[in-house]
Amino acid sequence: MKFVGTENKTNGMEAKLQELVIISGKGGTGKTSVAASFAVLAAGRAVIADCDVDAADLHLVLAPRIIESTDFKSGHEAVILREKCTGCGLCAELCRFGAVKLLPDNRYRVDPVACEGCGVCVRFCPAGAIAFPERLCGEWLVSETRCGPMVHACLGVAAENSGKLVSLVRREALRIAGEKGLPLIVTDGPPGIGCPVIASVTGASQVLVVTEPTVSGEHDLARVLSLTRHFGVPVAVCVNKWDINPDMTERIERKAEASGARVVGRIRYDRRVTAAQIQAKAVVETDAPSAADIRNVWANLKLETGKGEHMSNTTKIKIAIPLAEGKLCMHFGHCETFALVDVDLVQRKMLGRKDLVPPPHEPGVLPRWLAEQGAEQILAGGMGQRAQGLFAEQNIKVTVGLPAETPEMLIGHYLAGTLQAGQNVCDH
Ligand code: SF4
Ligand code: SF4
Repeated sequence: MKFVGTENKTNGMEAKLQELVIISGKGGTGKTSVAASFAVLAAGRAVIADCDVDAADLHLVLAPRIIESTDFKSGHEAVILREKCTGCGLCAELCRFGAVKLLPDNRYRVDPVACEGCGVCVRFCPAGAIAFPERLCGEWLVSETRCGPMVHACLGVAAENSGKLVSLVRREALRIAGEKGLPLIVTDGPPGIGCPVIASVTGASQVLVVTEPTVSGEHDLARVLSLTRHFGVPVAVCVNKWDINPDMTERIERKAEASGARVVGRIRYDRRVTAAQIQAKAVVETDAPSAADIRNVWANLKLETGKGEHMSNTTKIKIAIPLAEGKLCMHFGHCETFALVDVDLVQRKMLGRKDLVPPPHEPGVLPRWLAEQGAEQILAGGMGQRAQGLFAEQNIKVTVGLPAETPEMLIGHYLAGTLQAGQNVCDH
């Protein structure tokens, strides 16, 4: 997703809504300290989103005042209705997760933590004695902070589907940015490379990976760079505590650059970071030496969020999908037509679709032609690295590895943040 603002009515310049997502290959690298500082540096110009929903802690520094909270429900859980249950025990026999327990009073009860919500017991209970309500997994919150609006969440203990909650937090942050005309979303993403990370970075305009100069930092950075490359997200890297191992720092930076990432700075080891945390302050709100390093990283990211620049309240984008027989064509160069779909990212809806026959396939023709049509994002099945490079030159983002589905289905998932990309079927 590339967020593009419409024309700025006040100064005639085009303003772009950008989403910066700060992630790390692993936990404990200082990602949230950097995110909190960026929130302060972007104060008044950004919506802050805490997408590290499994272990949210940005609120400890930004002290949000909660304005709105909404239950987050996901999946289902089985609940035995005592008054209907005949005690036959079939549910306990069928539940492969051992979630149905026989209590000392000879009644059956579902352990809500062990229940996986598969629905088997509900389907086969002969007495129709098992309810199957939606599972309450946590809540998501809209708050005010000293830096601006913040969207964050609280996932319940052992609750699942954090990827879905991440998508929800991002969507709400996007809506608020659109409504308030703010040009930036600063997102504290989750660590690792799992589902919540994928939900955090897909479609972001810029990812910053905060890593550390250790063997595990190097290893995890490689994994996370491979992930961002797969999703076609521009990525920058900074090494935190670089001075604890300068040789490793240089090695990591070389590898990051070789994989196409921008190296945007180093942050020194600084005991004053802990002192700032204890005072519930962002590092850049103190005179800690590393504050200068973080400001330097921020400057090097070169985010276009000029003061006073405001967006209109719509964010529209044109998405191109290569088609064969009405569905996504798995081989990009062999498609019959392109669906060009206009979407509104704030309203999360399709605005219109037009199908066009492309010019005859020759190297470099399609990227130019699609750029002329105004496409800014391509959803594709397979596409070679060279072609992806040609689209990058035209500032068109490419997401590969998508299934042969209809444009409506793919766009629906794209807007909901649930697009599942598999393998790029083209390797030339
Ligand atoms: S299968 Fe239905 S009736 Fe039998 S023990 Fe389970 S809940 Fe009760
Ligand atoms: S829904 Fe599935 S996991 Fe949950 S109790 Fe029933 S059979 Fe077990």
